[in-house]
Amino acid sequence: MEIFQSLAEDQHEQVIFCSDKVAHLRGIIAIHDTTLGPAIGGVRMFPYSSEDEALKDVLLLSKAMTYKAAAVGINLGGGQGVIIGDPLKDKNELVLRAFGRFVQGLNGRYITAEDVGTTVEDMEIVRYETKYVMGLSRAIGGSGDPGPVTAIGLCSGLLACVEKALDKKTLEGVSVAIQGVGHVGYHLAQKLKEAGCRLIVSDIIAEKAEKARKEFGAEIVSPEEILGVEADVFSPCALGGVINAKTVEKFRVKIIAGPANNQLEDEKYGEILHHKGILYAPDFVIGSGGMINVANELGGYIREKAIKQATGIYDIMKKILEISGESDIPTYKAANILAKARIAEVKKFRQRHA
Ligand code: NAD
Repeated sequence: MEIFQSLAEDQHEQVIFCSDKVAHLRGIIAIHDTTLGPAIGGVRMFPYSSEDEALKDVLLLSKAMTYKAAAVGINLGGGQGVIIGDPLKDKNELVLRAFGRFVQGLNGRYITAEDVGTTVEDMEIVRYETKYVMGLSRAIGGSGDPGPVTAIGLCSGLLACVEKALDKKTLEGVSVAIQGVGHVGYHLAQKLKEAGCRLIVSDIIAEKAEKARKEFGAEIVSPEEILGVEADVFSPCALGGVINAKTVEKFRVKIIAGPANNQLEDEKYGEILHHKGILYAPDFVIGSGGMINVANELGGYIREKAIKQATGIYDIMKKILEISGESDIPTYKAANILAKARIAEVKKFRQRHA
């Protein structure tokens, strides 16, 4: 990868390669944009097959965090950390603390939190080395697992989509195919069940799908089948890149709405969905409940306040659908317009008052 060319294209501010031989840490921190405030973003631990793959992921994820904060009105910038390794085998106190020291070295330009492959408990270890960590446990005044609030925000955003695409006023009777019943997917299944939805789930870990079947009466299908299931909604709750050349013709749903970051492998698939008449809820908007939850730690965490803010995703989705409808543009473009407009406004304000 031509690193500087890539940074310039997406306007990343800074990339830090973190290496600690003793702790066996190989990590990267990317700071995309700090116009709105310090960069926030989780640290993902994943067995990337190459350094290039890890770099691409951290660059994409940090950019998505900028847009997420901007679109939903949070005064934070976008960043992300990745650690190359298998969380089941390679995660330990040494590696987490070493990562924490790099975060501390940035002196608040980047605030870390949990993400795929890391947990609230891990963040308490990272905290031994840095104060720039959020998503701590509720017991010590933190915001805890963001999964439940992400799921609440998702249901609110989904309602706006259902009103538009299915012409229904509630989620009752809506069928939802959930790919991945982990932290968010599980809580989403729970909320959707309470709202009267019919659920189809899939997970590469059989016990997780089985738990959703037992607790929520969900039908289980294989990870291959979930992409082509006939339902009202497909909800990607696993990893990014799920909307790609191989999958885009498979979907037999009217709405795609889930929290997985960077679902469109390329923006052209957002255009294709638009032309096919599938309503795509931009992931960085509909999945922003977790960021909203964590950001609430800054002013002293109050759960009710975080939940209320997450339910506001309904109004933001409405606005995006309005922009998309008025100009006949794909929803991802409408969301980008909204996010970029806020960043540009703040930049202009700063320049005027510099
Ligand atoms: P998680 O790791 O807890 O859950 C993901 C689940 O997907 C796991 O159970 C995994 O086994 C399963 N999975 C992986 N590949 C699969 C496949 N091909 N088919 C079916 N299942 C598969 O992660 P999470 O915290 O629930 O996050 C899920 C996604 O949402 C991630 O992309 C994350 O970045 C994003 N996200 C999470 C939050 C949050 O609050 N946790 C907030 C916003 C966005």
